[in-house]
Amino acid sequence: MTEQLIEIRNVHKAYGAVKAVDGVDLAVGSGELFGLIGHNGAGKTTLFKMMLGLLPASSGDIHIGGQAVRGEAFRQVRRSIGYLPESLALYDNLTGLETLHFFARLKGVDRATCPALLDRVGLAGAAGQRVRNYSKGMRQRLGFAQALLGTPRLLFLDEPTNGLDPQGILEFYRILAELRQGGVTVVLTSHILAEIQQRVDRLALMRNGRIQALGTVQALRHGQDLPLTLRVSF
Ligand code: ATP
Repeated sequence: MTEQLIEIRNVHKAYGAVKAVDGVDLAVGSGELFGLIGHNGAGKTTLFKMMLGLLPASSGDIHIGGQAVRGEAFRQVRRSIGYLPESLALYDNLTGLETLHFFARLKGVDRATCPALLDRVGLAGAAGQRVRNYSKGMRQRLGFAQALLGTPRLLFLDEPTNGLDPQGILEFYRILAELRQGGVTVVLTSHILAEIQQRVDRLALMRNGRIQALGTVQALRHGQDLPLTLRVSF
């Protein structure tokens, strides 16, 4: 970890009276595998959307690769970021391969890479099937493949293992480990501490729009700043 790839300073986001993100400071190093954990409504998705420039912050600063997340200059940086949203809209009538072609066109990526990506996420055999017939786990794999289009250097994955069976979860983390070896930085969210605690370099615990604890799993396990309910999970 040589540099801070993501720098978030005192970021707030309010929806009317709801403080979805309430003063977050966070830095993620280049090459890090970083977990953002919290219950429903903690503010994880909102923070993701602000890091991607999909949602403006009410106040505060976000920089990625030294570039502020706004304006024309950020569009270049954005091209090197892969994003798996919490629920990706898919066209049921398209096949898996057609779906990936669709996303490749959206991103301006060569569609020739699509079959290999489907293979990587374990969907080679289902490439010609319509998405209508995909299980939740298969849709999630397809969403992951979409996030990997264009060999991104930074990945934001919002609840990537949601809907995956245990084998799918293992395969997902195997791919993440490979990506990390290749120097890709990954930020992922989860509700399930037990699932990510041995797999991330550091994690942040979010609650009510704030980061309640931040550090390596080792440090958090012994730390006093961990909320009791989460300490029990350790
Ligand atoms: P989940 O795990 O359920 O996705 P989360 O940690 O990602 O939760 P967010 O989706 O960021 O949490 O939501 C944070 C808070 O902001 C919640 O109280 C939510 O109801 C509220 N919120 C999110 N989006 C909107 C919106 N578009 N309008 C109003 N309130 C919103």
